[in-house]
Order: sequence, then structure tokens, then C-alpha cells
Amino acid sequence: MRELLHSAASRAARYLEDINDRRVRPSAESIRALNNFVEPFPDGPTDPDEVLAILDDFGSPATVAMAGPRFFGFVIGGALPAALAANYLASAWDQNAGLFAATPIGAVLEEVSLAWLTQVLALPAGTGAAFVTGGTMANFTALAAARHSVLKNVGWDADRDGLFGAPPVQVVVGGEVHPSLKKSLGMLGLGRERVTTVPVDEQGRMIADQLPPLNGQAIVCMQAGNVNTGAFDPAREIIARAHAAGAWVHVDGAFGLWAAATRSCAHLAEGLADADSWATDAHKWLNVPYDSGIAFVRDPEILRAAMSISAAYLTAGSHREPMHYTPELSRRARGVEIWAALKSLGRTGLAEMIERDCRCARRFADGLAAAGFEILNDVVLNQVLVSFGTADTTTRVIEAIQAEGTAWCGPTYWQGRTAMRISVCSWRTTEADVDRSINAILRVTGRVD
Ligand SMILES: *Cc1c(COP(=O)(O)O)cnc(C)c1O
Repeated sequence: MRELLHSAASRAARYLEDINDRRVRPSAESIRALNNFVEPFPDGPTDPDEVLAILDDFGSPATVAMAGPRFFGFVIGGALPAALAANYLASAWDQNAGLFAATPIGAVLEEVSLAWLTQVLALPAGTGAAFVTGGTMANFTALAAARHSVLKNVGWDADRDGLFGAPPVQVVVGGEVHPSLKKSLGMLGLGRERVTTVPVDEQGRMIADQLPPLNGQAIVCMQAGNVNTGAFDPAREIIARAHAAGAWVHVDGAFGLWAAATRSCAHLAEGLADADSWATDAHKWLNVPYDSGIAFVRDPEILRAAMSISAAYLTAGSHREPMHYTPELSRRARGVEIWAALKSLGRTGLAEMIERDCRCARRFADGLAAAGFEILNDVVLNQVLVSFGTADTTTRVIEAIQAEGTAWCGPTYWQGRTAMRISVCSWRTTEADVDRSINAILRVTGRVD
């Protein structure tokens, strides 16, 4: 075992040592070489050393360098050294994180991380949480608690009796709601399209004045950090109106919630702590390895009511039992990497990482604007939208930058316009990476026009 694990660690180290200088998008040749994996199921065993060698020889070159400093697609973080190393060790532990008796360490690290997270994200002390796979499942889990609560308000137990014949639930979203939140609504039986959509402004923020009349059976889904612009819905106005009517307020803060951990961006998150539930990702801005997200619910008993499992054979003690808060029963111990990331950064390190990414986004916007390109959003956080002219030109620039390999940015569509989206979300990205990427964009735009 020892040699095999050392070999895995040294291959991983070599991969990461090269990541600064390799192409971000893999070459066509390395993608073609993936054919080496396409074979009939082998009759007999293969030596683990050889399994690892195949994976590294043909797999590593066909990765996209998301772990590197110049991947700016979607909203994708890297993996902090401590979080990655903790992930190795936790994989060796192979803990089933469902309950304390099965993994004291897994359960305790969730509890410690939860207390730290509520502090850094400025959420109410005592907030409950579920450690899940990502933002989609965090939205799903928190909205399951919301569904439970608003129907409980009118005497209906949705978790026991289902939704057939239940009093109607009014779900309110903004016009720029993330598609994964709608998917969560579908999975919850609330309907992807059975929503009231509130108009948004030019940054994608809900216009609070246009909220519909609400009542105690309403769930208002706000957004902290629009995936295109980084903009935040106006928390104070929306939450005040919703709570005056007895409605539940959920915040999709997949990456934006982390603004609360900084000094310079905390104003964006003002008022969010008054909501009833929040969803965020750890694999985005906390920079832990995939996959990792967190659902927070102000009243842990409501989350528990929606998620607890009654299994006589799983006798629980006096500890917080993770399985009572998550959709899953068996799952990996995600609290380990979250703890390691938070422990290694501390409050100042976390703030510095997030603020540096925001500065880098600003630098992108300034550099590209100075070169004559149009920035389509107010760059308030880490997201930048750039137009290079017509939709066709912008699309060609995006393809050209990906093909050139210095950096990776993807396309998006923003309020009728095709744009290149730049998301700075990695602990590795520096000002020098931004300059190098801007230079690459200037080179390729010289070519395509
Ligand atoms: C990324 C994102 C999600 C979905 O998160 P996953 O981790 O990809 O499931 C939801 N909402 C917003 C605003 C996001 O940026």
C-alpha cells in the first residue's frame, strides 16, 4: 500500500507543479488518447500500480486545469493545499459520515465547521446545517425545510402526507434565478415553473416593489450573487416584506454568501442574516475539492423535521447526528475538508483570498475596458461580463481564447446579449495571472477581427 499511495501523492504533486504552465484546455491529442480507456471489461485483475499509471498517463493530460490559476469558467474554485491533503487522508479513513457512532471525527468536524461557518458568513448562532454535494443540493435541502415549515403553518405535514391535496404553496423567484434552484423546486414537487417571477433590474436584482402579495404559505427565493453579474437581491426590503406577511425567505448564496467573510464586500451581504435559510457552495469560494455544499436553516428543528430518518437500527446518542439533516444516509465526510480549509486560512486568510479574487475581477474589467471592450455588468464581486462586439465576434473570441490555452473563459447570455463570462474564484489566481490572461485575450482578438 505504502508505495502505491506514495506514487499517487507524487503523481498528484507533479500534476499540480505543472499546472501553472500547462494549457488550461487539454489538447485535441490528449482527448483523442482517452480512447485508451475504451475497452471491454477486463476478464482478470490489473495491478493497482498499473491502474494508477494508466489514469495518470492518459487521464491527467485530458483534464481541464480547473485547479490552476487561470480557469475562469462558470464559478469554479481550486483546492487549497490543506483541503486537498485532508481529502487524501479522509479518503484513507473512508468514513461514512451518517452518524456519530460510525465516525466521531466526521461528526465533530461538521459541528466545529458549522459553528465557524455561521460566524464567518455572519449567520445567526445556532443555525442548523446539512453538508451536501453542492449548491443545487443545498438549495434542495433548505427548500425542503421551507416546504415543511410553510405547510406546517397551515396544519399540513408534507413530509408525512405528501403534497397531494395539500394547501397550495406560493413560490417567488427573481427573473434571474439560477436554473438549479428551479430544478430543486421541481424535485420538491413545487414545480419548476409554478412560480411567481419578480422582475429584475439591469444587474439581475429583484425589484422589491414588485413582489406579489405574500402570505404564510409563501417561499421567497432570493439570490446573493447572480451567476452572471455577481449582483445581490436587496435583502432588507425583500426580507422585511416577506416576514411581515409570514413568508419564508431562502437565499441562494452559492458563492455570494462568502462576501460576508470580507471587510470590503460585506456590505453586499447586509441583511441576509435575517433570512430563514441559505444555500452555499464550499467547492466554489472556499476552495475545497469537489463536491461540497452547505444548506443552512435558521431553526435546526425544521431542517431535522424535513430530513430526519427513522431507523430503529440506527440508534442515536446525544450528539448531533449528521444523517438527520441531509437527504443522504451514507455519504462521505465533507466536513473534513471544510474544517481543513477554514483552519488553514483563518478569518484573515479567508477574507484575503476572497478580496484578492474580487480585486482580480476588477483588474480584468479595467484592463479589458481600457482595451476598448465593453463590460456589461457592474463588477461588484468576482464576476465580469465582456462583449467583444457582435454575438458572433464574442463567440469567436471565446473559442479562440480556449484554443490558445493560456486561460479558459466561457460564454453566457445576459439580458439579450452574448457575453464572455470571467469568474475569479480560485485561491491561486494572482494579478500576474490576470495580466497574462488579458494579454492572451488581446492577442487572440487581434487575430479574429
Ligand atoms: C453554482 C450555483 C448553483 C449551483 O451549485 P452547484 O454546486 O453547481 O450545484 C446555484 N446557484 C448559484 C447562484 C450558483 O452560482
